[in-house]
Amino acid sequence: MWYQRLQRFLYGRYGTDKLNIALLISGVVLMLIGGLFFWPLSFVADGMYIFALFRTFSRNLPARQREYQAFLRVYNPAAGWFRLQKQKLAQRKDYKYFKCPGCGQQLRAPRGRGKIEVTCQKCRAVFQTKT
Ligand SMILES: [Zn+2]
Repeated sequence: MWYQRLQRFLYGRYGTDKLNIALLISGVVLMLIGGLFFWPLSFVADGMYIFALFRTFSRNLPARQREYQAFLRVYNPAAGWFRLQKQKLAQRKDYKYFKCPGCGQQLRAPRGRGKIEVTCQKCRAVFQTKT
């Protein structure tokens, strides 16, 4: 019975997404930092919790999706950068990573080949590098 009422209450509401999770995690981090160094930060953390709750139960789905898209425009490049750093670290013995001088595309080549000529797959620039 209460479950059906809860379901009816949640019907048509936005629910949660990565932005809400990021808000909650940032809130916890800010609260901890605030507790140690600067207590007014915990108000900012409260604001983040309230905003995350508001978003979860909001019925204005287009507005919430716009916020989420804006968040992803920042989040995806950042997550991609961290993924690349992790990959570089894992493959550092086998591959040398470098950027194309023409377009900045990230490239890699197997190590231990000496001086090689590279053709960028993206802009077709040809340049030499040491591996
Ligand atoms: Zn290039």
